[in-house]
Amino acid sequence: MDHTITLIPGDGIGPEVVRAARRCIEATGINVTWDVVIAGQDAKDNYGELLPKNVLESIKKNKVALKGPIITPIGEGFRSVNVAIRQALDLYACVRPAKSYAGVKSLYKDIDLVIIRENSEDLYAGIEFEEGKPETKDLIAKIEEYTKKQIRQDSGISIKPISKYASERIVRFAFEYAIKYRRNKVTAVHKANIMKFTDGLFLKTAREVAKDYNGRVIFEEAIVDNMSMQLVQKPKDYDVLVLPNLYGDIISDLCAGLVGGLGVAPGANVGRDMAVFEAVHGAAPKYRGLDKVNPVAMILSGVLMLRYIKEDSAADKLENAVKKVLVEGKSVTYDLKPNRDDPTSVGTQEMADAIIKNLK
Ligand code: NAD
Repeated sequence: MDHTITLIPGDGIGPEVVRAARRCIEATGINVTWDVVIAGQDAKDNYGELLPKNVLESIKKNKVALKGPIITPIGEGFRSVNVAIRQALDLYACVRPAKSYAGVKSLYKDIDLVIIRENSEDLYAGIEFEEGKPETKDLIAKIEEYTKKQIRQDSGISIKPISKYASERIVRFAFEYAIKYRRNKVTAVHKANIMKFTDGLFLKTAREVAKDYNGRVIFEEAIVDNMSMQLVQKPKDYDVLVLPNLYGDIISDLCAGLVGGLGVAPGANVGRDMAVFEAVHGAAPKYRGLDKVNPVAMILSGVLMLRYIKEDSAADKLENAVKKVLVEGKSVTYDLKPNRDDPTSVGTQEMADAIIKNLK
């Protein structure tokens, strides 16, 4: 089958890791045409906008995109181009697998977790009131009137909306994911004991959705602070985790740490009928243009993308090639060597070359 895929090189190290991933994906032999569109600093310099309209249009048309990390210049209108893309396309599910690969330094072995993070609401909705502003004072007065509780007048306020609608669709997504990828258990993570009307609603909705999967997938609940400890002590007791946005962000970095860090952590932002694939890491500007950083997180994001477009055998081939290069530990970037200043470490593109050589 022929595929047209939107390609967003991104900022900082983005173009380098995206190029490596693109070469690996092409080398699997699938038929792909890339629709390259520019977002981030280059777009700002050339077209005066961080997120030109044609970027979203391209993703809407092609339904699938591979995206490099994008820097958010401080004080530039919206909080983050990355968040803006997710919100504009309603990419409500952030999927972040945390899987151990032999050869990658880590405190743990054989971890295989999937974090499913709600991507559209919670404290990331961007509804904030700045300290000292008249509207903040009005809001404080209203809240005090409604709740009979005192808020300090010099407070800033961030709003945490959690809806039944978004909770239901993310938990259902997690169960459907578990079934599709033959996983046994979904754990809903929350702090419902304290935030009864937001996390409480998330949990209540999760329990309702879980009934539809009774007998097919095990359902468990965990309080987020306890979950953090459990993941460090007994990560193998868990399988698929589903979380509201903020906890999902934090726990997915914790889980990336369980398997060797950001260099090997892939991700996907999935909506009803489209998806954008990107590494968990950011644009690491200090490494820009040095051909130094690890391309694996971006390449594994490409593996997730290949599965999404139903090119499973290409995905398996590429993942196996990555595994071989990692376990051999020879043609790998500096961060994967036992010693970070190991002179035998290779550059980003040379590691991609080694992966391509191992594709069979
Ligand atoms: P970062 O992930 O860019 O970098 C932190 C550190 O992690 C780097 O200095 C480097 O040591 C290491 N690292 C990251 N990627 C690596 C790789 N592929 N190989 C080896 N080492 C790697 O995080 P940051 O410094 O907090 O953010 C930099 C910029 O990226 C910010 O502007 C931020 O907004 C943006 N960002 C974008 C995304 C995204 O596009 N989805 C995600 C996170 C951060």
